[in-house]
Amino acid sequence: MRKKIVAGNWKMHKNAAQTAELLNELVAKLPADTTAQVIVAPTFVNLAAAVSQLEGKAITVAAQNVHQAEGGAFTGEITADMLTSVGVNTVILGHSERRAIFHESDALIAEKVNTALKHDMTVIFCFGEELKDRQDKQHFNIVENQLRDGLFQIEKGSWSKVVLAYEPVWAIGTGETASPEQAQEMHEFIRETVRKVFGAEVADEVSILYGGSVKPENAVEIFSKPDVDGGLIGGAALKADDFLAIVKAA
Ligand code: PGA
Repeated sequence: MRKKIVAGNWKMHKNAAQTAELLNELVAKLPADTTAQVIVAPTFVNLAAAVSQLEGKAITVAAQNVHQAEGGAFTGEITADMLTSVGVNTVILGHSERRAIFHESDALIAEKVNTALKHDMTVIFCFGEELKDRQDKQHFNIVENQLRDGLFQIEKGSWSKVVLAYEPVWAIGTGETASPEQAQEMHEFIRETVRKVFGAEVADEVSILYGGSVKPENAVEIFSKPDVDGGLIGGAALKADDFLAIVKAA
């Protein structure tokens, strides 16, 4: 059975006190019978504190990025070893904001994926088409290329450490979501693409999350689709009640 996962990408929000406060509220209100795996990704400077605050709790801490090198003269960057040394074993890679604003290419993301896996980290691999790709009916091609160029270099045995997050760029932070049918259609295509290259066992086991304006009001319907295994949540992850309502829907 595939894991259901709901991950909150906090982006560049929440200082130290606000991080502690939101985590407190999540811990206090997370129902004991929650079946989905819950992940939160605060900013780098708050990761170590988040890990110690969540010790023994059913919430996993993830980073929002990692550098591909093992160390060196890279001012402002963070290695995988630094993350795991403070207890962070999950990382979001390939987010559309990293791709668009920080010019991360598929090739660079592939290097980051390799580095993270080498450090035994779990990778939440994000990808998705832009609006013009969908208008040009290129969305399936774009998604397939992102998978092939950024992720499919990994070995079959590494897939237990990979979570996929399909995030159509036109739905991120825009209030516009893919319809449940559009999400299912793409998730089915993604699973099929994985199946062709890595086989049925990998394809059936990998969790594919949907991201892009998921809210308490639309989560149940999106998550009810057979190939949608949870969500990567931005804006709605910043309020405990909204995020937990989405967790409940998974
Ligand atoms: P959003 O962000 O939920 O605010 O659209 C999703 C994401 O960027 O992962």
